[in-house]
Amino acid sequence: MKRFTLALAGNPNCGKTTLFNALTGSRQRVGNWPGVTVERIEGFYRHQDYEFEIIDLPGIYSFSAYSLDEKVSREYILLGKPDLVINIVDASNLERTLYLTTQLLEMRIPVIVALNMMDVAAQNSIRIDLDHLARHLDCPVIATVATRREGLIELKDKINEYVAEHHISTTRVQYDSVVEEAVARLSEITESDADTHSVDKRWLAIKLLENDHLARELTQNKYSQIVAEESARIKKHTNLDTDIVIADGRYGFIHGLFKDVVRKEVDYRRNVSDLIDKVVLNKVLSVPIFLAVMYLVFTLTIKAGSPFIDFFDGFMGTIFVDGFGDLLRSWHFPGWVILLLSNGIGGGIQTLSTFIPPVFFMFFSLALLEDSGYMSRAAFVMDRFMRLIGLPGKAFIPMLVGFGCNVPAILATRTLENRRDRLLTILINPFMSCGARLPVYVLFTSIFFREKGGLIIFGLYLTGILLAVISGFVFKRTILKGETSTFVMELPPYHLPTLNGIMMHTWQRLQGFLWRAGKIIIFFIIILNILGSLNPQMKLQDSNFENSILSYSGKAITPLFKPMGISEDNWPATVGLITGIFAKETIVSTLHSLYTRNEQSGEKAGFWEGIKSSFLAIPDGFGLIAETDEEDGPDKDFTLQMKNRFGGANNALAYLLFVLIYVPCVGTIAVIYRETGWKWTVFAVSYLTILAWIVATFFYQTATFFQHPLNSLFWIAFSALLLAVIYFLLHSLRNKRVN
Ligand code: GDP
Ligand code: MG
Repeated sequence: MKRFTLALAGNPNCGKTTLFNALTGSRQRVGNWPGVTVERIEGFYRHQDYEFEIIDLPGIYSFSAYSLDEKVSREYILLGKPDLVINIVDASNLERTLYLTTQLLEMRIPVIVALNMMDVAAQNSIRIDLDHLARHLDCPVIATVATRREGLIELKDKINEYVAEHHISTTRVQYDSVVEEAVARLSEITESDADTHSVDKRWLAIKLLENDHLARELTQNKYSQIVAEESARIKKHTNLDTDIVIADGRYGFIHGLFKDVVRKEVDYRRNVSDLIDKVVLNKVLSVPIFLAVMYLVFTLTIKAGSPFIDFFDGFMGTIFVDGFGDLLRSWHFPGWVILLLSNGIGGGIQTLSTFIPPVFFMFFSLALLEDSGYMSRAAFVMDRFMRLIGLPGKAFIPMLVGFGCNVPAILATRTLENRRDRLLTILINPFMSCGARLPVYVLFTSIFFREKGGLIIFGLYLTGILLAVISGFVFKRTILKGETSTFVMELPPYHLPTLNGIMMHTWQRLQGFLWRAGKIIIFFIIILNILGSLNPQMKLQDSNFENSILSYSGKAITPLFKPMGISEDNWPATVGLITGIFAKETIVSTLHSLYTRNEQSGEKAGFWEGIKSSFLAIPDGFGLIAETDEEDGPDKDFTLQMKNRFGGANNALAYLLFVLIYVPCVGTIAVIYRETGWKWTVFAVSYLTILAWIVATFFYQTATFFQHPLNSLFWIAFSALLLAVIYFLLHSLRNKRVN
């Protein structure tokens, strides 16, 4: 059986994913492109005697390599040498989507055009002369309606017929004569470079004139002098920059083609779109509409998800932890096997499953916004405001969602094209105080601050935002130096999304999350579990984790927290910070079980019980309902213990500041890793933890200054010094390439 590679290229929203799924059915893999976090989706299908591997390239408008998506797509097409590129074109938007086609033809690679959305074109009374178009483009054109699988067989037949032939279109865009002269001269000089990389020489020359990165790389920048001269000549003749003259040439070609092959009565869709935009992008209304939409996204992600969190938590816990554990016990498996399998892997699956609802609803909302066309409007509306903090408009959504849960929020950064913006948004996202941190705040403020509690909690949220802005500001000027991508996107017409399409996008992304982040979450849970269940003699010990390695480590590191007001005998607070890495609200149950362990004869002290019960606090946190304990608030003994061990309100607040800022939970760590790689994850975790210590210490020492002025002075100076060291480290890293 013969095997071929196909690549699917097209503008965003033209039906690529739909067609990809129609072609491949369920045989697909989601991964990342090597070295970058752009999604790489591959699938397989067979047709007659041929077998195809098919790659769904990221949706792009052009091949100018401004964004990572464009870069990835283009490098794959040029250097990955697929046997055939299927270019999906939106028939209802031919003039815009053909721009990419002209660039593909210019690369002189075998192309088939799938003219998708023929139903929409028909609805809008757009008639396209397919034969004529195929003749002009000198490549096959197949009409499809991907959602209804129309034209699929014809497309597959044509691919089979065409793939071995390696026909290359002879159509070329004729540019302004000055440009053509420059291209002729340049392509002569660069011919050997083009041969070396087996790219087309005319393409290489045009790209060099466009000052394209890849072209310059392929020619080792040898021709920059000549290119500059040619560009100067072009500028002299046309009074325009070369890239504009070239883009004009392509648009001119498309326009001519369009007039030739398209007959349309009225552009219905565009008219309706413009009408909607009159309202949606209206000066006065745009921001309120945007906020309302964001509120809906937030509510859907966080609130709609929360009942399912309970369900998944209980259900998965019953099956994978309790049920599985009982089963293993009844089969007399050794304790460590039970621990590893039921608590570790089972517990990991349980934890992972609690992230499914918010992540699902997040992706669902994103797909809805993207497919309908509102996303680009939202980005447009917020652009001016977000730019003040050095981020593009789209970054607003991840920040907002972060207040619910950082996991879907970080995944939402995928809508950002520019890698720098994306990294920045990911790095500052944990500062958005998520719902799981709220139960901790509520517990502490109800004990230490009473009626001022609300104010304190509000202050903590604000502190988070402030630190995000400051950190963002510093990162922008140090390790993530560079420009925020400017807003160049064209607003696509609105589009009534189909449930099918949305579910497909959602499912594909959710799958990616489950596989990639899931492994890391389960790994972490196993490790934390082992540490919580073994004593330092490496013996298993049930139900009381006071003697576990975890507790001992907690005790051992407690002195580090002394400057922020945690005394040695308050070691449970430190253990809480460690278990808080599971999920922040776990701190509540850890403190509860460690402080009240004697009175309750170990019953509540089970490590795993603690973890589990604490998960039940998530929905309350998400719902922003102030509740700390199941029935009637923290019990007396616990309250007393809290007061005794912490010693005072300043100590408590310092602890809360630390909780706000330090290492995010396993879920968040896992998605940071999945989206950025281990270097940035290590950076984020260390930065957050050290900053947490500095802020907490600084606060505590300032607040209690007069009790021990000399001591405080020392620690204040020390934390200031640490801050300066961090800044200088960041500063000295600024010239390192960001990748
Ligand atoms: P992608 O961004 O290129 O991957 O586009 P999708 O495959 O996600 O499609 C975007 C939207 O267009 C989805 O809501 C699809 O259901 C819808 N869609 C895709 N193909 C067609 C088509 O041929 N006709 C119509 N009416 N809708 C389509
Ligand atoms: Mg897609």
